[in-house]
Parts: sequence; structure tokens; C-alpha cells
Amino acid sequence: MRPDILFPLFRTAGSLKGVGPKIAPLIEKVAGGRVRDLAFLLPTGVVDRRYQPTIIDAEPGRLATLRVRVVGHQPSQNRRQPYRVIATDTTGEIALVFFHASRPYLEKLLPPGEERLVSGMVEEYRGQLQITHPDHVVSLDEADGLPLVEPVYPLTAGLTVRTLRKAVDQAVAILPDLPEWLNGPLQRQHGWPGWADAVRSVHAPAEPEDLEPQTPARRRLAYDELLANQLALVLVRAKQRKRAGPMIPAGDLAERAIGLLPYQLTGSQRQALAEIGGDLASGQRMQRLLQGDVGSGKTVVALLAMLEAVAAGGQAALMAPTEILVRQHAETIAPIALKLGLKTVVLTGRDKGKTRERLLEDIADGLAPLVLGTHALVQESVHFRNLTLVVVDEQHRFGVDQRLHLTDKAQGGCHTLVMTATPIPRTLMLTAYGDLDWSRLTEKPAGRQPVDTRVLPASRLGDVVEGLERRLADGGKAYWVCPLVEESENVDVAAAEERFAALQSRFGERVGLVHGRMRAADKEAAMHAFAEGPVQLLVATTVIEVGVNVPDATVMVIEHAERFGLAQLHQLRGRVGRGSQASTCILLYQPPLGATAKARLETLRATDDGFEIAEQDLKLRGAGEVLGTRQSGLPDFQLADLDHHADLLPIARDDARLIVETDPDLASERGQALRTLLYLFEQDAAVRYAKVG
Ligand code: ADP
Ligand code: MG
Repeated sequence: MRPDILFPLFRTAGSLKGVGPKIAPLIEKVAGGRVRDLAFLLPTGVVDRRYQPTIIDAEPGRLATLRVRVVGHQPSQNRRQPYRVIATDTTGEIALVFFHASRPYLEKLLPPGEERLVSGMVEEYRGQLQITHPDHVVSLDEADGLPLVEPVYPLTAGLTVRTLRKAVDQAVAILPDLPEWLNGPLQRQHGWPGWADAVRSVHAPAEPEDLEPQTPARRRLAYDELLANQLALVLVRAKQRKRAGPMIPAGDLAERAIGLLPYQLTGSQRQALAEIGGDLASGQRMQRLLQGDVGSGKTVVALLAMLEAVAAGGQAALMAPTEILVRQHAETIAPIALKLGLKTVVLTGRDKGKTRERLLEDIADGLAPLVLGTHALVQESVHFRNLTLVVVDEQHRFGVDQRLHLTDKAQGGCHTLVMTATPIPRTLMLTAYGDLDWSRLTEKPAGRQPVDTRVLPASRLGDVVEGLERRLADGGKAYWVCPLVEESENVDVAAAEERFAALQSRFGERVGLVHGRMRAADKEAAMHAFAEGPVQLLVATTVIEVGVNVPDATVMVIEHAERFGLAQLHQLRGRVGRGSQASTCILLYQPPLGATAKARLETLRATDDGFEIAEQDLKLRGAGEVLGTRQSGLPDFQLADLDHHADLLPIARDDARLIVETDPDLASERGQALRTLLYLFEQDAAVRYAKVG
């Protein structure tokens, strides 16, 4: 339960003075619905009133704060004329101008003969200096109440700066004194203020620089949020880890398989295998993500992990999103398995009747230790004798549910390895998963040549076709990917069919077509004709994006490359450069290119490293947009800005780990304070994982 001390912060913003039913929804829109959200609403800038000249020096067009003596009032003669108050200092005269003013109000505000501090925009009108509707008018006694630097906040139609600032001021005024959850030495080392002081100072900048993300106050608040995030992850993970999994010690099958491979494993493949092996032997359930660029060799890592499961007497299943992919995995896996005397079964939706029954029997009685398939594997009729490892390829194509259904088929709890070619930047991985349990394949298998990437305007299409002609004449193979039109797959298909017709009229039977609207069997036939001949040029929509392996394809043409995302372009390019021959990727764009599209294509031209591309993508789009925050389950931070505070993330992670190691129940004094932190950042679910203390 949320501690009482946090209650004032979790009241609705509507409970504040001046926030009625009209204003509350507007505040909710810019900040969030609670007092806490207002306290955490970061100023977007400042109004700087520190320019305090004498009247004679006051420059028109500048915001100034003047010390003046009121000389006299000139009330308006008619509704269109303003009310003017004349004021002076020893150097000159200025008019304070008010429209639709109330005389008694102004006489009270600016009594003749008295001195006032007046702040507003200085203007020149018909040769005279004036300030129209000064923002502040205070007596000299109240000078302290005139903020020389005022924070401004994000606004929305109908919400004024003044109203919002009043609400924020109230939120800041009632901040409770929360127990300190930071580790003392860390706080001292960084010179960070206490929590409430930090919040207060964020809203009371003394100069514009105080709003920078690197101030101690801002960094402290960012750290709080990151610590809450990491602590929640570590708590949940610590709990999950306690779930038992089948104990799978290192066996001899994987070693024998490595001896059968026609190549050496890369260093990162070995590293990933060691990490997986550690999980399998731990007695706890593995939940590992294997990330690696297209072509980095994930399949063989999966195979070797599966062989460990088999050597220990279990079964291993690999699920891939499409039939084409399943067959490709089978081509890698089955021959090696066969040499080891192991049977591989492939189950897809196409298997019917007798064939299917036989396959199901082989799975059920354990005759087939290695099972590959599409989501057909999760059907109820599929039973395993002893499933101990599930490998899921290309996770984003499957719902989490489907993955769980497959692991449910294991009686004794089973290990899961998820493979994905989507490189997620390290910082985002850390915030979404903690840094636990993921492995990366960062090296390309030996002998790969980098893909020569060229960026060309669409007007060069003719030259590109000429170039293709020569490659095809030499027996080369090429992909031609057609523009992505987001609204409708039908339009994609139409564009692809048109391009297909045009290329076919030139190259005849050597051109094939594959798109998402084709029946699975036709798709596969088209892919087969490309992989094995006679098709040499495959026109496609983005259906080829995922995992197709045709090592002798050496050209990739992408039309309207500016419409694709960086990650997607990288995936597409990964279809070539898989063999030992030099490959080319041609990115055709339609000018004019926007700045971001230009940066994207340039990044792609400059590097072939998926992880670096992911980092660039993060920079170009900002953390929130990469992968679509909501959809990917990545957290959306309020106070931490990963463009500036990413360095705090590993510190928070280590802090969180140490906390959970030394005080898993959050029972100590600091532990109690950390519970408050978790509630403050609404990690209520995570607190439940810390035992009741
Ligand atoms: P991914 O699934 O990661 O895109 P694959 O597993 O399909 O990549 O591997 C791509 C190709 O690289 C396959 O033909 C595979 O046999 C080959 N391969 C894998 N590991 C190595 C290696 N260490 N050295 C050389 N070739 C490799
Ligand atoms: Mg693959």
C-alpha cells in the first residue's frame, strides 16, 4: 500500500486552488492528473527579467525590470484609447499602458508619488517609451516577490502561463519531506541535493542555465526515476529467477556438432553459447534474448543450445513466424542432427491427415528430439514427451501469449530463448529488461564482405536497370523492393505488380514476384524459384524482410528508400552480403529529401553495424519513438532524459542489484525509503515482489 506520506502528491490536480473543472483536464493534458505530476513537470524555459536599466538606457524590444516613481494618471477618454500611467526615474520618462482598465484598480496599483518595480516588454510608440500591460508591478517592500527569472511550462490552448504556474507553485509548496533513499556516498560524490530541495530548485531557476539537464538537481531527479525503474526490474527478475527449470549440464552433442560445422564459430557466438549454457545448467528457468543482426548466425547458436537439451534427455522446439523461415532453419539443423543420429520433425499448418498424425506421434513419444514449426506448434493436439527448451525466432511476430502457450507444453517448466534481429539500443535494453539475460552477436561470420551501399535519386533508375542487366547476364541474383505505402497493403502490391511488369518486359522469365497478398504456397514457390532458379530478379514488397537466406543474391534495390525506417532498411540490406561475393545495395529516393530522411540514408551508407544503426536511430527519433514506446513496453520517463542521463543508467543498475542482493525484502531503513521511491514512481507491482516487510 502506498505510504501515507505520499498522499498529498497523489491527490488530483483538481484539489489545488484555481484548478476547477475547466482547468483540470487541461493540466492533465500537459502534466498529468495528479499533484505529483505537476511537481514533476519540467520547465521548458525561462522568462528572464534580470535586465534592469535606467529609463534612458532601456532598449525597446527587451524585457526589462525598471524602478520608477509614478507621476500621474491619464485615464482613457474613450473605449479605444488606453489608460496611461506616467512614470519616471532620474534619467527619463516612460508610459505604462493599459487597455480596458479599471481606474480604481490602477490607482491602487500605481499610486502617484510612490515608487514601484515594473517588469515587462519595453516598446517605443510615437517617440515615447512605454510598457503595455506590465507583467509585474510591485512595491519596493515586495521586491523579493518579483521573480527575476521565471520558469515557463508546456502549455495548451486555454491554459495560461499564470494559471499553470500557480498550480505548480502549490504542488511545490506541499512537497512532503520524504526519507532519503539515495545511498549517502553516491549522493555526496555527485553533490546532489535532497529530493524535495531538488524538486523545488527545478521550479525556481535563478538563471536560464539552471534548467539544463546536467544540474545536480535535475540529475538527482533523473537518477531517482532510473533507480525506481532498475530496482523494479531487478526485484521482478529476482522473483522470476527463483522459478525452477530443468537442470541441463553441458553435454557432448553440441561439441560434436561444432566439429561437423564447415566453419569456425565467431567469438560472440561462443560467448552467447557460454551464457546460454550457464542458464541451462543453473537449475533456474532461462529467459534469454539472443540479439543479432541478420546474417550474424543465430540459427547455429539455437541448434547448439537445442542439442544441450537433447543430450540431457529432453526435447527442444524452435518456432518461427513463417513456413519459409521454418524450412530454412530445418535446412541448417536437420543435416547436422542426422549426422548425430537425431530426428528432426518439421510441423507447419500445411501438414494434414496421416502425415500430420505421424509427426504428432513422433513428437509425443519423443522419437523426434528436435521439433521445428510455425505457430502450428502451439495447437492443442501437439504434445511433447519432455520439452525442456523452447526457441522462438523473430519474437516481434509472435504475441507473448503464443510463446507462453508453447512453454506450457512442458511439464517441468522449460527454458526459453528468444531470437531477434531487431537491434535494440543498449540504453533501451537496459531500461526495458535490465541488463540481465540477453546475449548479443556483434561479429559477422568470417569471410563476409561489407555491402557497398549507394544512395541515388530516382531519376537514376534507368542506370540502375542497366547495371542489373550486366549482373543478371553474369548469373547474379537481385532483389527489388517496392515502396512502402503505409495506409494499405493493396497499394504496396499494386506498386510491386507495376514494377514487376516493367522489369519483366525487359528481362522476361528471369523476373519473379512475391508479396504479402499471395497464398503461402505461391509465396514459397516464388521464393524457391529465386533461391534455386530460374528466377534471378525478385520483385518484392517487404515480405522478404524477415530472415530469408539466399546467399548468392548480391544486389538489393530499394525504391523510395526515404519511406522506410532505418531499422527496416538495415534488415532489408541484410538480405545481401550473405555469401562470399561482393554485394551492392542501392537506395533510390525521391527528392527532395527531408533532413531526417537524409540523415537516415547517410547513416546506412556509412555503417553496416546493426547496433550502431540502432543507436543512430535512437538519436534521430528520440527514445520515445524507437520501436514505438507503448507497443514495445519500453518505459516512458518523465524526469530522466536518456539523451543526457544515459550515464546514470548503469549506476542505477548496479545500485539496484546491490540493494536486492543485500536487502531483498527492502526491510532496512534505506529499504523502507526505497519502497517510498517505488511508490512515488508508481512501481507498485514491483514492491509486491519485495517480501512484505
Ligand atoms: P541469422 O539468423 O542470424 O540472420 P543465420 O543463422 O541464418 O543468420 O546465418 C546466416 C548464414 O551464416 C548461414 O548460412 C550460416 O550457415 C552462416 N554462418 C553462421 N555462423 C557462421 C560462422 N561462424 N562462420 C561462417 N558462416 C556462418
Ligand atoms: Mg535467422
